[in-house]
Amino acid sequence: MNEFELIARYFARPVDAPWVAQAGGDDCALLAFGDRLLAITSDLLLEGRHFLHAVDPAALGHKALAVNLSDLAAAGATPRCFLLALALPRVDPAWLEAFSAGLYALADAHGCALAGGDTTRAPRLETRDGPLTICITALGEVPAGQAHGRRGARPGDDLWVSGTLGDAALALRHLTGTLQLDAAALAALRPRLERPCPRVALGTALRGLASACMDVSDGLVGDAGHIAARSGVQLVIEAAAVPLGAVLAAQPAGLGLVCALTGGDDYELLFTAPAGQRAAVQTAAAAAATPVTRIGSVAVGVGVIVVDANGQVMDTGPGGYDHFTVP
Ligand code: ADP
Ligand code: MG
Repeated sequence: MNEFELIARYFARPVDAPWVAQAGGDDCALLAFGDRLLAITSDLLLEGRHFLHAVDPAALGHKALAVNLSDLAAAGATPRCFLLALALPRVDPAWLEAFSAGLYALADAHGCALAGGDTTRAPRLETRDGPLTICITALGEVPAGQAHGRRGARPGDDLWVSGTLGDAALALRHLTGTLQLDAAALAALRPRLERPCPRVALGTALRGLASACMDVSDGLVGDAGHIAARSGVQLVIEAAAVPLGAVLAAQPAGLGLVCALTGGDDYELLFTAPAGQRAAVQTAAAAAATPVTRIGSVAVGVGVIVVDANGQVMDTGPGGYDHFTVP
């Protein structure tokens, strides 16, 4: 059973409540309040699973909130407030000072208030203290009828992505010892892994334009599969069009593409829009000061295919990060 089969089997009961406009399967749940929707998302970061023990606490504070704001961005919501639940292995004032500073800096940049939470001590497990665990629930707001989900992609739509992909995955390969980057390359890529920039401005600029939207957190191909499945379409990704940053593009051929197609932690927006809206998408992206690239299209069919410059289907393997099938 993989992560998504598990959720589908045990935690995806149909919701029969008129105020719940969307429950499960998208980046945010949506609650209807008059002419507004409240977008809600929750993300858990676990030491040893989502971040390395040695990570800079200020960067960790930033990232814990950023991954949630990224889900709000995917829904087209404006961040309003968040709740912070912490299980701390120890009380370390210097660590807490830095963590909270990183957290508040991003919160302030988005006018998103810390509105509550819960704090507990992580249990002591045999030889060491339990892992540091951070769970943030973020709430945002979007006008009714303008939220994006993963459901609306239609055959003939364009497929777009913001920014560049694969940088975080390359930085992680260095930090876990799989490959060696030079100091300049690491300095350029490390913030992409440790301080992702949630695409909030783009998310709201795409209201009424994107037919489907999600954030890429577990790898482009695997995540694209969620739009394909929920929209009942096939997504066609043109490998040559996938945007790579300069450092990744300079890596040996193949490595850059693997990181960009299957690496995690990008926190870019992947979205579809009618082909007739190309100019409007570019205008929205420019208004949000966020580059976007057209990387493919939506077709009749199922799943995701990646095609090379000759239109030949490429084999990309499993495609995404899954908490249960990947050890
Ligand atoms: P994201 O990467 O955007 O945070 P996930 O891949 O973690 O989303 O989750 C996929 C979907 O499953 C989301 O709609 C999420 O709300 C839902 N989900 C995840 N875990 C649970 C759970 N334990 N109970 C109910 N729904 C869940
Ligand atoms: Mg998401």
